[in-house]
Amino acid sequence: MKNLAIVGTGYVGLVTGVCLSEIGHNVICIDIDQGKIDKLNSGKSPIFEPDLEELMIKNIKSERLYFTTDHSEAFKNSEVIYIAVGTPQKSDGFADLTSIEQAAIQIGLHAKRDVIVVTKSTVPIGTNEKIKNIILQYLVSDIKVDIVSNPEFLREGSAVRDTFYGDRIVIGAECQDAANLIEEINKPFQIPIFRTDIISAEMIKYASNAFLATKISFINEIATICEKIGANVEDVAIGMGQDSRIGYQFLKPGLGYGGSCFPKDTNALFHIATHEDYSFALLKAVIDVNKKQQTLLVDKVKQRFGILEGKKFAVLGLAFKPNTDDLREAASIVNITRFIEEGAEVIAFDPVAMQNAKRILPATVQFAQSIEEAIHGTDAVFIVTEWKEFIDFPLNKYVELMKKPIIFDGRNCYSIIKMMGYPIEYYSIGRPVVN
Ligand code: NAD
Repeated sequence: MKNLAIVGTGYVGLVTGVCLSEIGHNVICIDIDQGKIDKLNSGKSPIFEPDLEELMIKNIKSERLYFTTDHSEAFKNSEVIYIAVGTPQKSDGFADLTSIEQAAIQIGLHAKRDVIVVTKSTVPIGTNEKIKNIILQYLVSDIKVDIVSNPEFLREGSAVRDTFYGDRIVIGAECQDAANLIEEINKPFQIPIFRTDIISAEMIKYASNAFLATKISFINEIATICEKIGANVEDVAIGMGQDSRIGYQFLKPGLGYGGSCFPKDTNALFHIATHEDYSFALLKAVIDVNKKQQTLLVDKVKQRFGILEGKKFAVLGLAFKPNTDDLREAASIVNITRFIEEGAEVIAFDPVAMQNAKRILPATVQFAQSIEEAIHGTDAVFIVTEWKEFIDFPLNKYVELMKKPIIFDGRNCYSIIKMMGYPIEYYSIGRPVVN
């Protein structure tokens, strides 16, 4: 059992802290956001993530999990300090490392014993070396500092599950003793561990996300061609996925990828390549296809209605994917903004993301308390996130409640065959139009 500190208590930091305390370590999570820490200390999770709050409360009660805004208090006894702060995209496409640099300064100023600093945040190649240099520059105590890159692969919406049942844990280190200790900390997870050098570990994270984004943009391009030739992309994806060299995962067409990782990480990798005088043409195409894909439904609805002014649209789903309240780079934002710009009225519903959405979306957007309230009397419904609630929603209710039932489904929630049994005009992605 080790004393661990986690800097940054967001989606990655909180999940990591909770899961490391669950396998027996003493964990103290630090954040600069006092409101977040107050909430956590009252036993409430500031984010929606399945199973997280229950596990968090359990470990707070077991006195293995603490929260603070005080870096010096947190680092006093910590043998390992994880960095899990945000690395958002800057306007020039590169990752913003301000929070990383701040965290490194705090470690330099407040670490009091020999320490291993583990970077969980997704950072550009060479950043771990920069982190070490900053820490050494600000170091107050006479201690040894080692750096380990341990990129995170969890997915929002299944983050706790992914931490316990991930495919691999990557440990990139120069110092083998440091790598051994991080391996020992993670042993109870019983997940295969892959050890490498720091730069390769940094690259594994970007290459993995870029590859998954490529699969998504690839199937979205195939979907567009399927629509033109009259094929059904779902059958195409099944037929492709049956080949074990291809696999089924990430072959689901839709409104493209969003969230806090794929968009910024693909852009960051593209800029890393450009900085090295290499034009990563394939990745550029992946990014461009995704941008186009996100507003595909706007193109479809304009083709159907001509002008959108005066139309009332329901948007079902605001989060960038189901089982999260995260709206970062969500397709809902760009679609709703376009509808409003084109003069349509928008009423939205999401099972958990509406609080966050109210802070982001244009002020004229209305929010409903149920699917029924959202779709009532509307000219068209747009499905932007594939929440189970929408998939299970009885189709006859669209017929009963809408002006004339027209659905634009950006996530292929309903079967084409089933839809044929209802008087609903149905547009989806890469499949034939129904009725
Ligand atoms: P987040 O924005 O949810 O959380 C970051 C937290 O760090 C915030 O609460 C912020 O207040 C805090 N913070 C910033 N500076 C700090 C400082 N100096 N000291 C203490 N706290 C500080 O971010 P996230 O989604 O958890 O992502 C964190 C990193 O992990 C990013 O690099 C991201 O790319 C990567 N990652 C994210 C995911 C994901 O699904 N969200 C998955 C894998 C990797």
